[in-house]
Amino acid sequence: MKSTISTPYFLVDETRLVQNLEILRQVADQAGCKILLAQKAFSMFSCYPLLRRYLAGSTASGLYEARLGKEYFGGETHVFSPAYKPEEFEELLTYADHFVFNSPRQLQKFGPKAKAAGKAVGLRVNPECSTQEGHAIYDPCAPGSRLGTTLANFDESLLPLLDGLHFHTLCEQNSDDLETTVAAFEEKFGKYLHGLKWINLGGGHHITRKDYDRERLMRIVKHLKDTYQVEVYLEPGEAVVLNAGFLVTSVLETLHNGMDIAILDTSAACHMPDVLEMPYRPPLQNSGESGEKAYTYRLGGPTCLAGDVIGDYSFDAPLNEGDRLVFEDMALYTMVKTNTFNGMPLPAIVWRDANGQEKLVKAFGYEDFKNRLS
Ligand SMILES: *Cc1c(COP(=O)(O)O)cnc(C)c1O
Repeated sequence: MKSTISTPYFLVDETRLVQNLEILRQVADQAGCKILLAQKAFSMFSCYPLLRRYLAGSTASGLYEARLGKEYFGGETHVFSPAYKPEEFEELLTYADHFVFNSPRQLQKFGPKAKAAGKAVGLRVNPECSTQEGHAIYDPCAPGSRLGTTLANFDESLLPLLDGLHFHTLCEQNSDDLETTVAAFEEKFGKYLHGLKWINLGGGHHITRKDYDRERLMRIVKHLKDTYQVEVYLEPGEAVVLNAGFLVTSVLETLHNGMDIAILDTSAACHMPDVLEMPYRPPLQNSGESGEKAYTYRLGGPTCLAGDVIGDYSFDAPLNEGDRLVFEDMALYTMVKTNTFNGMPLPAIVWRDANGQEKLVKAFGYEDFKNRLS
């Protein structure tokens, strides 16, 4: 991966992206469902025209993503927000065609306006079925969750306003957990789905992962279509760009303090915050676990934050200043989450086309740091 583009930069690979997109289109075609990009995970709008050739549209978490989806993605534009802002709603009506509300109160407040504007209206429900362990911040079914309407809070008098139901409860999960969740959903809300037009199964489906059971996903979709005569939507974020991106970085300095340490020109806190937030250890090309290869280093960023550490990795040879390191699976939840804490520059965004040509899509500078402040 030789390149003259200066680090750090995110590199998105067309060939890998298209591999994912072909899988998703095949699932959509075979199961007879619609798949949307959840822009929350990936908003690199320069490649939206490519994505649009495979996906039915995009989904947004609010005004800005809805606008980006409408202006650059095309197709259907869905939006969900835990609570819409009254002063933004009119504008939102110009971008989105499907509105999902979080609670009966939100539906009461905004649903009639959306219906009057000819929009499809849905309610996010909470099937109260936790299927994930470990990552509590990604579990919308946990006790006290603010996301989705529980059966106890469901208000049948609002059914005439509804075109569809929505749930989103998964995160990086396989279709067995979807099956469990759908069973809980049907038990609680199935009776309301009869007579509606669609069900949206949210995101968190790791459809493009090697071990993902797509046959089961397709069976679930067909079951819902047959039982309720509804259209089925999936809105994955991660699965669209899984393993399709990299973060290319350089070693700035090495030092020793009880162990070997390397300071990179990329920061966990600023450029891959999920490493600290989730937390997880990102895969790094040509490296091993701590102690696995001859030379182990703790890799950290150039900020003043003591905890700006990416992890401990081992290498066949000692690291040197200027060496390039390539972190993998860096398209999802990275570019959308970067920040300029400590005055850190933002990584550039680079596209590698199907012929292997790397093209600089965008570089950032001082103004991008300054313009967020005053
Ligand atoms: C985050 C989110 C998604 C996408 O989730 P992934 O884990 O990236 O697939 C889809 N729908 C909603 C409502 C979300 O909040």
